[in-house]
Amino acid sequence: MSGTELLLRSTRVVTPEGERPAAVAVAAGRIAAVLPHDAAPPAGARLVELGTDALLPGLVDTHVHINDPGRAEWEGFATATRAAAAGGVTTLLDMPLNSVPPTTTPEHLAVKRAVARAASHVDLGFWGGAVPDNTAELRPLHEAGVFGFKCFLSPSGVDEFPELDADRLAAAMAEIAAFDGLLIVHAEDPARLAEAPAPDGSRAYADFLASRPPAAEHDAVRRLIALAGRLGARVHVLHLSAATALPLIAEARAAGVRISAETCPHFLTLTAEEVPDGATEFKCCPPIREAANQDALWAGLAVGTLDCVVSDHSPCTADLKIPDFGAAWGGISSLQLGLPAVWTAARARGHRLADVARWMATGPAALAGLDRKGAIAPGRDADLVVLDPEATFTVDPAALHHRNPVTAYAGRTLHGVVRATWLRGRLVAEDGRVAEPTGRLLTRGLTT
Ligand SMILES: [Zn+2]
Repeated sequence: MSGTELLLRSTRVVTPEGERPAAVAVAAGRIAAVLPHDAAPPAGARLVELGTDALLPGLVDTHVHINDPGRAEWEGFATATRAAAAGGVTTLLDMPLNSVPPTTTPEHLAVKRAVARAASHVDLGFWGGAVPDNTAELRPLHEAGVFGFKCFLSPSGVDEFPELDADRLAAAMAEIAAFDGLLIVHAEDPARLAEAPAPDGSRAYADFLASRPPAAEHDAVRRLIALAGRLGARVHVLHLSAATALPLIAEARAAGVRISAETCPHFLTLTAEEVPDGATEFKCCPPIREAANQDALWAGLAVGTLDCVVSDHSPCTADLKIPDFGAAWGGISSLQLGLPAVWTAARARGHRLADVARWMATGPAALAGLDRKGAIAPGRDADLVVLDPEATFTVDPAALHHRNPVTAYAGRTLHGVVRATWLRGRLVAEDGRVAEPTGRLLTRGLTT
């Protein structure tokens, strides 16, 4: 193979066809070929012998809140992307809210891109936001390269990113459908939330859980399906927690509605039953639910009703995680831990690394239209993660690259140690040490 610079050899290479012994040839930052395990390195190529460590596609995390600029003390581009690199995530898409400004106009997008440009250790793109007053900005944002638009149906938690009421949701969805864009939705119905008891002042997780009932997700998803079907729009349900909504999604897809859905590591690995009193590092919206619901989410993944597993990394400073489930900031910090967290639970349920790669790399790449990312296949970027699947470690929040050492995974022992991460054929992290930033900013529709 002329031009091959690098040959990575492993007994466990995870390709879209499954896991097998192979050697991955890399040329000019892209995967040139997947060769037999015993293929000789081409002249001039460096051989990296991985033994029984697995080689997976770099993860594509399409749900990350970086908060920079404006709330960079919660998380910044440098810290988030360093954590991503150390955790095996090679591409991430930043959510449009919790930074100031939010990504709701092309000018705001330019501000975000300027801050991110020199700081990013992995490849990075942006979602836009659909808020009540910016319908006229959606097409310009689309043309400026955002990957789609996020909206809320209920309050977002920050004043500068208001939710859409029914009329504005329909208007935004119609506008986005007009240029065949993608609307991604935080789907909790505000009326259902309003009729549930508020958890104000409570240290009990049960009170918080009761305030965000499954019916809120179920009703919101039903409403989205009806609207998407009527408008022919493409919609994606963010961070689905309530498994009762899965049959709705499956039926809608079977009927031709263009709807997809994701869930998150915390919904798949943590349960309501185990959240200690006052432990608001477990607070997020929608909430972590009971073990029986978690079993049903795994079933939804197994049959493909859920397309992706992405982090919803939404950190804050420690002082905002006060032991009051009403007042504490909602968000779970997990960007660096998604791969081992999901793998630990997946292996216990009989899933393979190829399943994890499909949920955490191929699926999210397909959602965002990142056709150069998310798989070990010829022509794709050589974004790769080396994982020792059998090794274990105990999560020490202070040892993570996240800006704030707060995470619901603290003290857990997880399977799967990320040994190295490669970005476009370049080693960007090894045993937790991260190289100088070489990430690129990604634009929808353009190759890297
Ligand atoms: Zn989020």
